[in-house]
Amino acid sequence: MHESLIQEIRSKADIVQIIQNYLPLIKKGKNFVGVCPFHDDHDPSMSVSQDKQIFKCFVCGAGGNVFNFVKDFEQIPFPQAILKVAQLANIVVEEQYLERQTVSDAKHKQLFDVLAEYVRYTHYILNTTDGQVARDYLMKRGLDESVIDKFELGYNLDQDQATRFLMAKGHSLEHCVKANLTRTNEYGNKDVFAKRIVYPIHSPDGKPIAFTARTLDPNESSKYINSTETELYVKGQVLYNYHRALRSIKLKKEMIVVEGFMDVIALDRVGIENVVATLGTACTKEQIRLMQSATHNVTVCYDSDEAGQSASLRLARLLLAARMNVQIVRNTSGLDLDEIIEKQSKANLQALMEQKLSYLDFFFEYSLRRLDLANFNQRKEFAKLIMHESNQLKDRFDQALMIDRLAQATQFTPDQLRLLVQAQTTSTNRLAQRPLIKNKLELTTWAEKEILGQMLFSQQAVLDFRQELGFFADASYQKLALTIINYYRSHEECVIADFISTLEDASMIELVTQIVDSEIYFRAYSSEALHDAILRVKINNLDRQLELFKQKYSDELAFQTNMERIQEYQSLLKQKRELVQLRGVDRHGKH
Ligand SMILES: [Zn+2]
Repeated sequence: MHESLIQEIRSKADIVQIIQNYLPLIKKGKNFVGVCPFHDDHDPSMSVSQDKQIFKCFVCGAGGNVFNFVKDFEQIPFPQAILKVAQLANIVVEEQYLERQTVSDAKHKQLFDVLAEYVRYTHYILNTTDGQVARDYLMKRGLDESVIDKFELGYNLDQDQATRFLMAKGHSLEHCVKANLTRTNEYGNKDVFAKRIVYPIHSPDGKPIAFTARTLDPNESSKYINSTETELYVKGQVLYNYHRALRSIKLKKEMIVVEGFMDVIALDRVGIENVVATLGTACTKEQIRLMQSATHNVTVCYDSDEAGQSASLRLARLLLAARMNVQIVRNTSGLDLDEIIEKQSKANLQALMEQKLSYLDFFFEYSLRRLDLANFNQRKEFAKLIMHESNQLKDRFDQALMIDRLAQATQFTPDQLRLLVQAQTTSTNRLAQRPLIKNKLELTTWAEKEILGQMLFSQQAVLDFRQELGFFADASYQKLALTIINYYRSHEECVIADFISTLEDASMIELVTQIVDSEIYFRAYSSEALHDAILRVKINNLDRQLELFKQKYSDELAFQTNMERIQEYQSLLKQKRELVQLRGVDRHGKH
């Protein structure tokens, strides 16, 4: 996308209005403040400047322009964030910028076509006399015609019959192989899913891209096989049933996440349609992003076995980290969802789905099953675990309830329980206070930021920097300085919010917003302040050299054995003294 278009969208979209699409902001003085969505914020720590069109969190450091906010909030790529901002601000973006998506679709059109044809063909076969054996099996499992039709189930006959059908329909063998429908070897072609019932897996926009397939042959060693990855299908990037469930998810404002496609079908049979499956217990970031784009309320319902329960905990934590609301279905039945229908009843499954636990309640029960409270050490461990988790709760009332519940379970008093976490937090605080040299370093940082701040506001400061200092020892400051210098090569002035659009590195964006948003720096070119800062940096560079020198040659200096070293050291000291003096004259001369 062209920079001028990005600039145009940026300047037309007001950051305050855009952010208010995501969270409430309150006007405070010149700025707006809100609860920061990028860390576990309790007070409004994020400030949004309408003047500068940037946001900044004073606690976690997150910051940037309107695109960065949308990109990080929605966890989408930068170009997509630009389009999203345009959409939110009702700015019409020309077709050509949306074209790339369609180009890749066209490239894959033949693959999509062959897959869609395969689904139609196998579904047709399932309803013929050839498919009777498969239909019998499905009926036995309680999957009637309406389920078969809705989920587009099919049956792949033996040998290469599907491949032959597809080729007769004009699809090339190459595409059948690329779509992972056909395998070829020296004996000829074979359908990948020969003699299996196929369950299509769709892309988020509803095109079939892969399959899970079950054998009907009792002697076959692998009951289920899945499509291998293809150009269209990347494992972990789809959620089974997403395209079908979306409408119901939006309606109910809730998404239920299960492990397998049979769980989806089981819930559908009892009228619960807002369900997707991760197809395995390892939920990926891409899948979470997909969930986020549908709703923020997720109910996890993985299997009731040990693997499923620990996977529930993992998924719940991932979802919480992505700032979503999480509930977990309490499933201690030891049965899969379809088994509950089979061995108990549909009503039992419906009742089970109503038993939703909060994350903490789930964690409480989960840990309780793993620890023996009769044992003092395990009881203490349990108390620590729960106290640690409940300490992260925003709601003080929920926190108090949890402490009471924990006190009952462990027979510790609430005061004793609070001691457990206090002991933990004070020890971490002490660690944080440790570095003593930090103060000195912070002063350098202050000076370096002053210089960078002025460079952002004026080209004159850039010239001065290049003439008098030329580089920063710190790699990230140096990188930012070079980026600013480069920016002025193609831009007359530096509008901060636009400059930020050109940065790719999140830490650079953080640094820029930190410099620009702080009150202690000059906001325009000030030769005096700039030169003082440059002197400071030089003095600090010398300090660093002196320190290194001492570390390296401490013996030789102590015993005064090497005249050369001593002279070298003294010359560094002299340089420093001169600079300090110069700085003193500068600073006091003006009074
Ligand atoms: Zn924050």
